[in-house]
Amino acid sequence: MMDFNLSSLSALSADASGKETHVKVLILGSGPAGLAAALYAARADLAPVVLSGLEHGGQVSLTYTVENYPGFPEGIGGPELVDLFQKQAERFGARIEFDTATEVDLSQRPFRVRTYNTTYLAEALIIATGATPKHLNIPGEKELTGRGVSYCATCDGWFFKDKDVIVVGGGDSALEEGLFLTRYAKSVTIVHRRDELRAGAILQKRARENPKITFLFNSVLTAILGEEAVRAVRIRNVVTGEEREHPIDGVFIFIGHTPNTQLFAGQLEMDAAGYLVTDKLMRTNVPGVFAAGEAADPHYRQVITSAGMGAAAAIQANRFLEEVESGGQIEAHAETRAATR
Ligand code: NAP
Repeated sequence: MMDFNLSSLSALSADASGKETHVKVLILGSGPAGLAAALYAARADLAPVVLSGLEHGGQVSLTYTVENYPGFPEGIGGPELVDLFQKQAERFGARIEFDTATEVDLSQRPFRVRTYNTTYLAEALIIATGATPKHLNIPGEKELTGRGVSYCATCDGWFFKDKDVIVVGGGDSALEEGLFLTRYAKSVTIVHRRDELRAGAILQKRARENPKITFLFNSVLTAILGEEAVRAVRIRNVVTGEEREHPIDGVFIFIGHTPNTQLFAGQLEMDAAGYLVTDKLMRTNVPGVFAAGEAADPHYRQVITSAGMGAAAAIQANRFLEEVESGGQIEAHAETRAATR
């Protein structure tokens, strides 16, 4: 057990006059995890502040339709769902700031979080910074990003009307985005490095039945070619070793994600892939710092699981603050962490 004897929370209030803003709960990230945490923290009267991060609404805001969030039997647009999350949180007093954390000091409470606009002093911190699409790191990828290479079908699909595109990956994202691209593209070739897809059965069935989709198995891209725009890719068959050039107009890459946790390196415990380690109660190794959503979840990565984690993190943050306020003993995460991963 760690002994915390901290100043009363009631002394803390938003202070916009100086360069430092005191808050009870600061939430980093405005995706489903961050906004669900905001809703729960707001309803606990903690007046949470949410820093939106560079991508307001997180990855779901780039999703055309969400079909597996309960309560929307016909599905709902990603941006629309985020908007509803935000309105609901704001209704109870959450404040969403279009700002991003650039530096954190978690060595003592209140935690110090520097942003582009100010410095926050937070009594409790909920990290919901999400994850970023992985890159192939092959020649031409970086140079042609935005000129035919994309990581977001919803954002860029429209530009490929009646064109031929490649989708890289064999998971749910690759198939879901590949299916979405068939609305615009003339053909969608899904290039997967193995001969078996990772995606779930329903998406596999839909993709296999779609006349615009073909699969290229046991294949990897080794280069993306073009000057001003993508004109071709080099594809290697990993079984035969044969490599050839394949003319194409666009390359969409969906090969997984990297958690956005670099900011916390050296301060918070992470696994080998950079996901924040939490216990069942969303606690990190620093008491008062909680993590939720894809920054801490290599397993599920769904809107509903992220939102659930966000709600749990806010409930725990509230309990933590009550405990601190009553002068109680705060349990250190390391002593109680359950083997949940
Ligand atoms: P994922 O499940 O990790 O799949 C990544 C895919 O990319 C795999 O097929 C992997 O191949 C391939 N890959 C990884 N690195 C590669 C590389 N360097 N070169 C070529 N291929 C590479 O990622 P995801 O599809 O983004 O899905 C992540 C999570 O979100 C999953 O839990 C998924 O169920 C969930 N999700 C769900 C939905 C939905 O329910 N509608 C939609 C999207 C995502 P291997 O198979 O050989 O490893």
